[in-house]
Amino acid sequence: MEQLVDSYGRHIKSMRISITDKCNFRCTYCMPAEGLPWLKKPEILTYEEIVRISRVAVDMGIEQIRLTGGEPLVRRDVPDLVYQLHQLPGLRSLSLTTNGVLLKDQARPLAEAGLTRINVSLDSLVREKFAKLTRRDQLDRVLIGLEELEKYPSIHPIKVNAVAMRDFTEEEVLDFVQLARRKAYVVRWIEFMPLDADQIWRKEDILTGAELKAIIEAKYGPLVPVRGGDPSETARRYTFSDGIGEIGFINPVSEPFCSTCDRIRLTADGQLRTCLFATEETDLRAVVRSDADDEQLAQTIRRAVWHKELKHYIGDKRFKRANRSMSMIGG
Ligand code: SF4
Repeated sequence: MEQLVDSYGRHIKSMRISITDKCNFRCTYCMPAEGLPWLKKPEILTYEEIVRISRVAVDMGIEQIRLTGGEPLVRRDVPDLVYQLHQLPGLRSLSLTTNGVLLKDQARPLAEAGLTRINVSLDSLVREKFAKLTRRDQLDRVLIGLEELEKYPSIHPIKVNAVAMRDFTEEEVLDFVQLARRKAYVVRWIEFMPLDADQIWRKEDILTGAELKAIIEAKYGPLVPVRGGDPSETARRYTFSDGIGEIGFINPVSEPFCSTCDRIRLTADGQLRTCLFATEETDLRAVVRSDADDEQLAQTIRRAVWHKELKHYIGDKRFKRANRSMSMIGG
């Protein structure tokens, strides 16, 4: 089938699929303490519908699928979905983004079902700070979940993603570096983006990748770039002069990477988003719940991708907030 290409010539190879809007955390930069008005069950795509859309998308060149939420593991039977997606011919990578609190019990079934990569969101290693940020006192369970993952080398690499926030992250940067060097977790810092439900994001709260790199190099000397990654990789990857440990910086605000963007997103209620900051969506749920065939579904996806946004305009007067918050998009 003809590959997915947008009007700027970018080949679309990666799809992030939010399988639920619900979450068992209440991170202050993501959602209010009381949560959000959750989607109703009939509004949410069934696993069969997700697999059908994925199969058609993989036939058009999607090679990487990442399952996200909310918190994906709060939805039942995720290993069943992973198993079905893992069977899709042409799919090279199947990953999951999770807050890690349910990993102790889920790591094994996910590994056996065919999960190949994982991103665990962890913004602090200090119990009190973690509890204040997530409004849940569960740091220990996340760390136990990470250790459980280490038993399944088929899930590799284990990435730990921390949202970088000014006057919060700086004091723990070197502890996270220690984690990367001691545990072989790939630790990455992601710049804070204006996708919070409370709309409290301010440019001055941005702690840039460059600032974090400077803190680390002050202690470890110049970092060594890791070469040869995927050109659409969002992280700037580094190791240390002794070669122990890998860290990375995802800088969508200070160093946007839209020119090599190969990503599209599917929301839990079946809307196709061609950019994280999209203000319009394409309703695939209506298509898969109609009598449209796979070719018509493919055409709908292809048309949407052709109109993929050039870039985000954060910091520019043309910037418009996305029409959904992060927990409804899935990162
Ligand atoms: S902002 Fe949009 S275009 Fe830019 S990298 Fe993110 S998804 Fe791609």
